[in-house]
Amino acid sequence: MRAFTYERASSIEAAAKAAASNPEAKFIAGGTNLLDLMKLEIETPTHLIDINSLGLDKIEPTSEGGLRIGALVRNTDLAAHERVRRDYGLVSRALLAGASGQLRNKATTAGNLLQRTRCPYFYDTNQPCNKRQPGSGCSAIGGFSRQHAITGTSEACIATHASDMAVAMRALDAVIETVKADGSRRSVPIADFHRLPGDTPEIETVLERGEFISAVVLPPPIGGRQIYRKVRDRASYAFALVSIGAVIQLDGTGRISVGGVAHKPWRIEQADAELPQGARATASILLADAHTTEQNRFKVDLVERTLGAIIAEARG
Ligand SMILES: Cc1cc2nc3c(=O)[nH]c(=O)nc-3n(C[C@H](O)[C@H](O)[C@H](O)COP(=O)(O)OP(=O)(O)OC[C@H]3O[C@@H](n4cnc5c(N)ncnc54)[C@H](O)[C@@H]3O)c2cc1C
Ligand code: SF4
Repeated sequence: MRAFTYERASSIEAAAKAAASNPEAKFIAGGTNLLDLMKLEIETPTHLIDINSLGLDKIEPTSEGGLRIGALVRNTDLAAHERVRRDYGLVSRALLAGASGQLRNKATTAGNLLQRTRCPYFYDTNQPCNKRQPGSGCSAIGGFSRQHAITGTSEACIATHASDMAVAMRALDAVIETVKADGSRRSVPIADFHRLPGDTPEIETVLERGEFISAVVLPPPIGGRQIYRKVRDRASYAFALVSIGAVIQLDGTGRISVGGVAHKPWRIEQADAELPQGARATASILLADAHTTEQNRFKVDLVERTLGAIIAEARG
């Protein structure tokens, strides 16, 4: 681990300004992803801005009937919150399917959205990786690619986004509130927040330098059966091969988003419209542009079968 300096931010605006003025600076929230990456020297910030004492740990109702989740709300607290469990069960279930109790006690809402991929080559500094070192190549293409993305990929990167919570939030159309270094604020729909890899897989979101996530807003509840299914190699403490977050209404209509298949939580609104027709019709639209390797081709069937199981569960 390399030496770094440390400061405790006094306000959101000060944190954003400090991060924007130093390209080598990083915010630290729970530290459960960043510190691992620093120990492996994959991320080498020279300055850490601790944002834990900014009072962003509250969950509050919005005037529209939704819920504003502070950026520093811990995953454990979010999953257990009474209104989240009652009105946004998908978020609770997705969170509880991720990591471990100890990690969820530290991990924060913003940090979870910004966690980096689990591609094994990204973590192996002896291997080329365009995301870690732009222009060096992608070891997963032509390498071990069983866990990798099957849609939205590029010739530069086929990594997946690892967050379970983000899959649930994508199905619920969450909005991410941010503060920029000049003090201006914006709201970014989660659909537009994470980027596909394209030629620049190292740029993972639309955040500008120093831009700070202050909260995530969930729109008013949409009801329905809210189901999160995560298929993985071990029953706990493992990332998704495929996961599906679904909200299914009594008449069979609904919304779905998929994890483990793309560089971002994957949702195609036209596929939602096919839900009453069943899993095959829905999956064929969701994965119409699938680009698989021999090792991860199984994910196409896995998406359809997982969706079939969810639809059956929703129908009781
Ligand atoms: C062993 C292990 C297993 C795991 N399993 C799962 C799993 O199954 N499913 C899953 O979804 N996750 C899993 N995780 C990932 C875990 O959920 C994330 O590490 C965690 O959510 C990150 O949150 P954090 O607050 O610790 O982020 P940090 O590590 O503090 O930060 C992560 C990134 O976000 C940035 N950041 C943090 N807050 C802000 C902010 N407010 N504004 C702007 N930037 C910010 C930081 O600068 C950093 O770049 C696992 C992690 C581990 C170590
Ligand atoms: S898939 Fe992406 S993260 Fe993995 S080696 Fe290729 S460029 Fe790196």
